[in-house]
Amino acid sequence: ALPVIYAVTPTYTRAVQKAELTRLANTFRQVPRFHWIVVEDSSAHTELVSRFLARAGVQSTHLHVFTPRRFKRNGMPRATEQRNAALGWLRGHRSLNDAGVVFFADDDNTYSLELFEERRVVRPSPITRSTVFTPQAVRMRSTRRVSVWPVGLVGGRRYERPIVENGKVVGWYTGWRADRPFAIDMAGFAVNLKVILDNPRALFKRRGAKPGMQESDFLKQITKVEDLEPKAHNCTQVLVWHTRTEKVNLGNEPKRHLDSVFIEV
Ligand code: UDP
Ligand code: MN
Repeated sequence: ALPVIYAVTPTYTRAVQKAELTRLANTFRQVPRFHWIVVEDSSAHTELVSRFLARAGVQSTHLHVFTPRRFKRNGMPRATEQRNAALGWLRGHRSLNDAGVVFFADDDNTYSLELFEERRVVRPSPITRSTVFTPQAVRMRSTRRVSVWPVGLVGGRRYERPIVENGKVVGWYTGWRADRPFAIDMAGFAVNLKVILDNPRALFKRRGAKPGMQESDFLKQITKVEDLEPKAHNCTQVLVWHTRTEKVNLGNEPKRHLDSVFIEV
């Protein structure tokens, strides 16, 4: 069987939340062997997200953990506790017998279905007279340890990407903090479940965390740059975009004369 792709999505209550989750579900629903770990930044499961997941048509696990208010300041990394809750769930509910690949899918990004497909070489088989598919290991599902790929619309550039020479990552094409040990966005890597289970103490860090260093702080606990597995044709294709949703204008919401029905948006 194909390894299961576990997508970890931190999410929080705001006007655009259901729209964001709908966009993600419409993509993830089409991916076989997919498990969505949705972690709410809240002190309890919300009704909106519970109802949404029940009808989303995606296999999912619904978790929640509230970010302490002192960590909700500008310039502080977001969703540290939520990603760690998902890692804790995987360590508690999955074992080395389960083949899987874990990646971190923020709720406002845009994901191409190609990110989850293995590109296959199609050849006719003279024996079975059917078509033979050979996986080429160019997508995240074939991640053995830790894999990487480009991310679009991030770091003040059209894209950032790992620079690959002879099949190895040798540096980073980036315009922002090029001194980062892993100059890569959260959306640009995947980790085999085995690596998550074999490194039970690997977590996202709050202590001493600097903006933009979450990825590096996490990745250096589980891998080295020279061991990274480049995907997306040696990191030459953008299959995920770090889109950000405009803050909605609710300036004309009524203070009196509310609508006669309650409508979830
Ligand atoms: N997030 C969260 N709680 C917050 C702020 C953000 O759970 O208080 C989630 C958000 O839903 C997203 C992820 O953390 O899945 C990253 O946040 P955001 O997209 O705002 O970060 P940026 O794109 O600016 O890096
Ligand atoms: Mn974002």
